[in-house]
Formats: sequence, structure tokens, C-alpha cells
Amino acid sequence: MRLRDTLSGALVPVPDGPVTLYVCGVTPYDTTHIGHAFTFVQFDVLVRALRWLGREVTYVQNVTDIDESILAKARERGTDWKTLGDRETARFVDDLRALRAEPDRLVTATSCIDTIRQMIAALLERGAAYAADDGSVFFRLSASPMHGELSKLSRERMLAVSASQDDADTDDPRKEDPLDFALWRCWSGGPDEPSWEAPWGRGRPGWHIECSAINLRHLGPQVTIHGGGEDLIFPHHESEIAQSEAATGVRPFARIWMHTAMTRMSGAKMSKSVGNLVYVSDLRGRYPPDAIRLALLAHRYREGSEWSEDAVREAAARLQRLQGAAREADRSSDAEERLRAALADDLDTPAALAALEPAAGPTLVRLAGVLGLRLASEG
Ligand SMILES: [Zn+2]
Repeated sequence: MRLRDTLSGALVPVPDGPVTLYVCGVTPYDTTHIGHAFTFVQFDVLVRALRWLGREVTYVQNVTDIDESILAKARERGTDWKTLGDRETARFVDDLRALRAEPDRLVTATSCIDTIRQMIAALLERGAAYAADDGSVFFRLSASPMHGELSKLSRERMLAVSASQDDADTDDPRKEDPLDFALWRCWSGGPDEPSWEAPWGRGRPGWHIECSAINLRHLGPQVTIHGGGEDLIFPHHESEIAQSEAATGVRPFARIWMHTAMTRMSGAKMSKSVGNLVYVSDLRGRYPPDAIRLALLAHRYREGSEWSEDAVREAAARLQRLQGAAREADRSSDAEERLRAALADDLDTPAALAALEPAAGPTLVRLAGVLGLRLASEG
């Protein structure tokens, strides 16, 4: 199988040996919209396809159960961050389960505080990070000459994107360079603010270091495939590369970077700020989960798509057609060969769905199963 690697821009074969996959998950509030679902269903098909092709895969996804946006949301709603996070994580898992897109391991950031502290200690020791007087710790960008290799953004553009983030701090006077980012944020003393002890001061981790630590703890210093939505390329994934490689000395941190395109609605990127989010939980009340899954697979992972109610209605009709064909006599034609070729060609899910069309009966049920679609009633 070959995949389009964001870093090199090339189509590269999935390296030999057991495959480790890490996909950046959600911050548990206001989940799961259809843009999230697109990413997680596509990576789920990647895992199913690799396993079908005989590869051993371990798939880890994180839950950012502590970061600045979740604290702000908890305050806004008058609840505490843990209650909000636990409740929204449970909802998210319920959506993933319905879509049959669960990872092997879903890991919370707060379960990896030890590894986060160890990585920060290693970065401080190597001069790749510095502590401010208040105990906050920042990554020293000048220690990372390759910074920018993934996003290919100019410094001006990086500054603009950084300034537009939820936790924007480009003008923080404690930083040596406005693009340095927080590895650890000191505790302000607020009773609703979670904090952990650390040699440099009591506080909580920054967002980026959480993913580097979960990778290191669960998959080791190098991951085969690292994925996520393309809106995470900068600053999140660029920062992950910088801090992971500086802390472990292993380069490259990820052999392949794989990014899913954004889902739009009525021409605009689906986002909280635009207010055009479509929630999976809402759709689940009106369409079978397999129809939602099929609608998401009708687009290729790296090509942006437009979400519409028509799309899911069409997918529901297509699902019914496939279910009808599944009850017919067995017919295989060259479906299996075409499915294999489509998936091996940079996970071309529209071509994979087209490959199913000439098949029927048990062969169709089996091949649809590779895409995570259930055509026969269970049990
Ligand atoms: Zn991440």
C-alpha cells in the first residue's frame, strides 16, 4: 500500500513490519461533528485495509482531556473540567462505536503526566526548552532547525496562524521567540484549575506535548503513520515533530504523515466559529450508522468535501441497494482485485466503493466488511 506523505509530498509505501498508527483525537467538548467523523472513519478504513492485506497494526488515538479550551468551556458552562471531559468523552466513544471506528486504544492526556514530565525534563537538560520564573516551560524553537518542514509555512504565516489559536500567546514576554510554545503552564492558584507537581513548578501540560508523550509511551520513539485533520499540521504536528525528535534523538518521529481534508458545508469550512456543525448524534437519530459511514467514504481522505443532507440520503439509498445485492446469489467478478487495488492506491475509498458494485451475496458481504460496512443482519 502506498500513501501520500504530507512531509515529502510523495506517494510512499507503508514500511515493512508491524505498523503503528497514531491519530490525533478530539478535545472532549462539543463533539462529534461530521468533520471529526470523516477523519476517524477514514483512518478506521486504513486500519481495516492494512489488516486485510496481512499487516499487523496497532492504532492509538488520544483524548485531549486537559487543555486551555476545555478549561474555558467548563468555566463558561459552570461545571468542572473533569465532569465536562468525562461526559463528552463518553458521548464521543458512543459515536465512534456506532460508526464502528474505534481505535485499539483511546488514551487520555491525563493518564500520561509522568511521561510528559520526563520528556520536558529531557528537553530542559538538552537546552531545547527553558523554564520561566513562574515555573512555566517553553520549547526553544531555535533548537529545532527543521521546524517548518511539515507545513512549509513562512515565519510570517506561522506567526499569523499562532496568533489566531484558542491559546494564542505570541506576545507572551516570557518567551525568547514568539513562536516558542508552552510545554508546561504554571498553576495560577485557581481552585478550578487542574495541576500536577513538577520539579520546575506546579502546573499542567501544554497541548502539543500531550501527543508526543502518548506516542512515546504507547508506540515508542518512532511511529509508522501519524495522522489527523489537515488543520493540525501547524502548529500542532510541527510542534510534535520538534519536541519528540529533540527529546528522543530519533528522527524521523513519523515515517508517514497522513492528513484528512476539511469538510465544508454550504461552501464554508465546518467549524465551531462559523456555527455550521453537523453532529453525528443528530444524524444517528435519522439515518443508519452504515449510511453515515458510506456517505463519508464516498470522498477521498485528502480531498475536501461538501457535506449535505442529500449526500447522506443518497448514501442511505446506496446502502439499501448493496443490502439487496447481499441477499442475492454469490457473484464475485473482479471485485476483490479492484478493491485491493483501490485501497492500496493511497486509500481511494470512492474507487473501493465502486469496486463492490459488481459483487453480490457472501462475497459482497465479506468485501464490504473490509470497508467496515455491515450488509447482512448480525447474529
Ligand atoms: Zn495530537
